[in-house]
Amino acid sequence: MAQISVYLNPHASQSLHSFQAVEIKKYFFRQEIRFNSPASVTELIELIQKDREDGVDCIFSIGGDGTAHTIAQNLIGSKTKLLVLPGGTANDFAHEMGTNSNLKKLAHIFHARTTREVDIIKVNGRYLITNGGVGIAHKVAQEVNKLRKEMSLFKSFLKAAGKNAYSIMFIKQIMTAKFELHDIFMDSPDMPLLDKRVSSPLILVNNQPRLAGKFPVAPSTRNDDGKFNVTIFLHHNKLEFIKSATSFLMGQFPEDDKNIIQFETDNLKMMSLDGKDLSFFGDGENFTPAKELDISIVPKGLVVYSNNEDIVLCPSYSLDTIPTIQ
Ligand SMILES: [Mg+2]
Repeated sequence: MAQISVYLNPHASQSLHSFQAVEIKKYFFRQEIRFNSPASVTELIELIQKDREDGVDCIFSIGGDGTAHTIAQNLIGSKTKLLVLPGGTANDFAHEMGTNSNLKKLAHIFHARTTREVDIIKVNGRYLITNGGVGIAHKVAQEVNKLRKEMSLFKSFLKAAGKNAYSIMFIKQIMTAKFELHDIFMDSPDMPLLDKRVSSPLILVNNQPRLAGKFPVAPSTRNDDGKFNVTIFLHHNKLEFIKSATSFLMGQFPEDDKNIIQFETDNLKMMSLDGKDLSFFGDGENFTPAKELDISIVPKGLVVYSNNEDIVLCPSYSLDTIPTIQ
């Protein structure tokens, strides 16, 4: 019998996901399962840390990338396994791990014990599980988080728009806000540019191919090879950038765009050259702004249940043996 601790995002609207405790109990009734609905992020962190100390076998995260992000901060390097039950807007991490809202499928993954050890990116001491960066995408994440806190109507918009929510907010941002370039010194052993000073509207740090549910920003990137992807946009005017962004919005990587520089590395330092702090977003959350960003990787830092096809199923297991009660 496994010990399972289930967490609901303290801030997410309950209506954003369809998981019910009674349904979850049906699929996992043989396990020692505890449901937690922390009232604040502080309480969530305290409970997770206690789970880790107690050696809890699995943590179920019901929420979006932000919830998984908060939980992951306190699980890196532990043996406690994470199962992500998608209940957010983008659900990038759940998508990458092949988990969706089908409880029967989730129970299948759990009972088959198909897990993956996933690399985690570290940014100034804070962990990042999916994608992040500086520039216009940070502005979008910041606005979504601000509106989500302030307006209940906006939550309804997020629910209705689903994976299109970030596209809509991105288009709004680019049409209405000033096109801003960030002057940054970038240092990495794998940096292909001779001039390490860049002036860029957007720099992304990617642990997996897709950002915000749809955009294929780093199509060949994997989160288990000990490296992360860096994508630098060198477009210096709004029109060129919109042309490139349109391709991503349509779900395609603009292969022939010479203003996109990409490389894989395990180390990157970024330093602001214009006196302004670098505002970084990661997993849809705002990081603490800083003049310098020190970015590295924690290889295989987190154990996560996954439905990826390259995982070999536990041989003694078959779908018919899922213990459910009707
Ligand atoms: Mg990688």
